[in-house]
Amino acid sequence: MPTDKDCLFCRIIAGEIPSQKIYEDERTYAFMDINPASTGHALIIPKEHARDIHDLSPEALAATALSAQKVAAAVRDTVAPDGINLLQCNEPAAGQTVFHFHLHVIPRMEADGLALGWPIVPGDMDAIASLATRLRERLDSKNT
Ligand code: 5GP
Ligand code: ZN
Repeated sequence: MPTDKDCLFCRIIAGEIPSQKIYEDERTYAFMDINPASTGHALIIPKEHARDIHDLSPEALAATALSAQKVAAAVRDTVAPDGINLLQCNEPAAGQTVFHFHLHVIPRMEADGLALGWPIVPGDMDAIASLATRLRERLDSKNT
């Protein structure tokens, strides 16, 4: 399994840096975020080092998603939030600060003021349709 000795999250998995671990299995590791956006904010990471969604193996992505579902259920039952966001960031433009793929589980309360939303503004339907065509073509070409 690829790891990176200079990666913060690989070092957390290896136990070189302490963490509040909440779950671990063969492929994944889950722990509490040190700068929680809300009470119960947790991170789920694959044990294989991968920078982001593009770098990650499908097997590791599936395992991380399954662990996130388990963690989300535990957070729901323990913290009793009004809702939960799953968040995953790729590259600094999207808010990524640690370059080892991770899923955030972020408990939400009604009107908690956390800024994860964006304004609802109707799009240009011609532009949306035209981009959808290009994406379908791209995805179809990958499937053949
Ligand atoms: P990103 O911004 O890359 O999506 O998320 C990285 C997350 O890792 C942040 O929410 C940040 O608080 C968390 N984080 C950064 N360093 C540490 C650390 O040393 N320990 C823990 N538990 N979380 C960390
Ligand atoms: Zn890593």
